[in-house]
Amino acid sequence: MSDDEPTKNISGGASGGGTETAFDPATAGTRAEAVVDRLGELYWTKTYGGRDAFECLVRTILSQNTSDTASQPAHDALMERYSTESGDTDLVDALAEADQGDLAETIRSAGLYNQKSERIVALAGEIREEFGGEAGFDAFVREEDPDAVRDRLLEMNGVGPKTADCVLLFAGGRGGVFPVDTHVHRIARRMGLAPADADHETVREHIERDVPAEKCGFGHTAMIQFGREYCKARKPACLDDPEACPLADRCDQVGVYPESGEVVDPSDAV
Ligand code: SF4
Repeated sequence: MSDDEPTKNISGGASGGGTETAFDPATAGTRAEAVVDRLGELYWTKTYGGRDAFECLVRTILSQNTSDTASQPAHDALMERYSTESGDTDLVDALAEADQGDLAETIRSAGLYNQKSERIVALAGEIREEFGGEAGFDAFVREEDPDAVRDRLLEMNGVGPKTADCVLLFAGGRGGVFPVDTHVHRIARRMGLAPADADHETVREHIERDVPAEKCGFGHTAMIQFGREYCKARKPACLDDPEACPLADRCDQVGVYPESGEVVDPSDAV
């Protein structure tokens, strides 16, 4: 196992919280769990939770439609400008009162900065009105029924299923939440862990059914990393070299054709 969790990833890297943990590969009860265990041999292993819910929401919105490499500096700049080290400033208050143009300039590197700044200011206002501030929103995310939290988050403008699940996972520490982003959606269907034509929600249902609750958070972050390093969208590692992928023995290669060098979305595989 490697402990070099990348500093730029959806969890915020080593500074993003979480507790070091270890999984026993011998106990896997399903194929999906065996895949997550194997990822645990490749990468760091952690259970997540405990992050500030509003900061987590902001981080995930900044990461929409862009890479972590672009969104991380925007997150850091936002925190430097609107939060204080001592925690005296309530981030919800600060962003509810922020000038949208100033915020847009601050988060420029994340792309779509006008739209994202508008959403963040509006969300901060909504959360301040309903929950009072950071502490009230944290308590809601950590203590309320996870389905109720998810439904309420999904009602917020700009919050889709992945964003809601990331907040539940990284802030709420809710086990059994496996957010599905574009990497997870592609890899799960290529490997045969979910039907080839499954949408994001169906992939999430299959994986959350088959992976034990405590392994879901790590599985999510590690599968994204695996997608960046090995099972890339256009050029999966197995395309040129069958030995190049450490998970090849667990994979159905749906839509990947090494003989012809062709790669198609699993839903288009014959
Ligand atoms: S064998 Fe190929 S398609 Fe399967 S996980 Fe590895 S890189 Fe992806």
